[in-house]
Amino acid sequence: MAEKLLIIGSGPAGLTAAIYAARANLDPLMVEGMEPGGQLTITTDVENYPGFPDGIMGPELMEQFRKQAERFGTRIVSSNVTAVDFSEHPFKVEVGSDSYEAQSVIISTGASARWLGVKGEDRLRGFGVSACATCDGFFFREKELAVVGGGDSAMEEALFLTKFASKITIIHRRDEFRASKIMADRVAAHEKIEILWDSTVTEILGGDLVTGVTIENTKTGATSELAVDGVFMAIGHTPNTDIFMGQIELDDAGYIVVDGTRTSVDGVFAGGDVADTVYRQAVTAAGMGCAAALDAERWLDARE
Ligand code: NAP
Repeated sequence: MAEKLLIIGSGPAGLTAAIYAARANLDPLMVEGMEPGGQLTITTDVENYPGFPDGIMGPELMEQFRKQAERFGTRIVSSNVTAVDFSEHPFKVEVGSDSYEAQSVIISTGASARWLGVKGEDRLRGFGVSACATCDGFFFREKELAVVGGGDSAMEEALFLTKFASKITIIHRRDEFRASKIMADRVAAHEKIEILWDSTVTEILGGDLVTGVTIENTKTGATSELAVDGVFMAIGHTPNTDIFMGQIELDDAGYIVVDGTRTSVDGVFAGGDVADTVYRQAVTAAGMGCAAALDAERWLDARE
């Protein structure tokens, strides 16, 4: 028999949707994906999630979300969705060799920060290497930092980090920014920000904590070292929507196009970073997950 509601993804949006759906007796089935808990599980302290005045570790916060979803009977499949077919109702969701049918679906597969893939990056993630200034900037008071990238995110991250850091170097691989002029101008005018053009980071240095980066000039090939206490990657995010291509409307960057939480397919809803190009916060994702569950519940009610 078809599931009433199948939730794909287990970050703040998916698990909040599960809590609401389970309490509404929709008996949700969640396929949690290969990174259970999502992006928060790769951060350390979370100090801006309301309700935790002393902060909470990202993985622990997601463990709490999960317990709450399970408490009300959410069933969780620990695997990845490999294919979907939204062309017929009930919808089909393939998980490896298993196939599920669902009357409604909530997509909350999130987005993944892009990383450089250079030596030292993986090992020092959470120890000076970050892809989220809002999450981790606070830990770098009076420190020197590098931001990698030349888009609006890099400008925004660098400007945000000026609240804490003593100096910020933006490292960009070309000699002009992709960012909007207004953001680039703000960066250029800021006394704490320096720009290193035509440069790529080839290695992140440090023992237990980041101490610097190795830089290569893309025009001359010359290498140098820059001493910094932290490196923020702002080279874009990729929404995790590969399996939905051709099934549902996506924008040019691959994000799911939503009206509220409704997607282009009636009965398929989306929430969190997979459909959010603006805020990308745990608490906004949770809010969208809640809304998606309420919308799915109303949609199912109306069909009955
Ligand atoms: P983006 O515009 O795609 O910029 C990514 C930047 O990272 C580019 O400058 C790119 O260099 C660089 N980059 C990519 N891969 C790299 C690599 N392997 N090594 C070194 N550099 C690399 O991404 P975004 O800044 O995250 O912005 C995404 C979208 O959100 C944009 O439409 C943006 O306007 C929007 N946004 C808006 C705001 C705002 O208005 N306040 C804030 C944030 C984001 P190249 O330039 O050489 O390609």
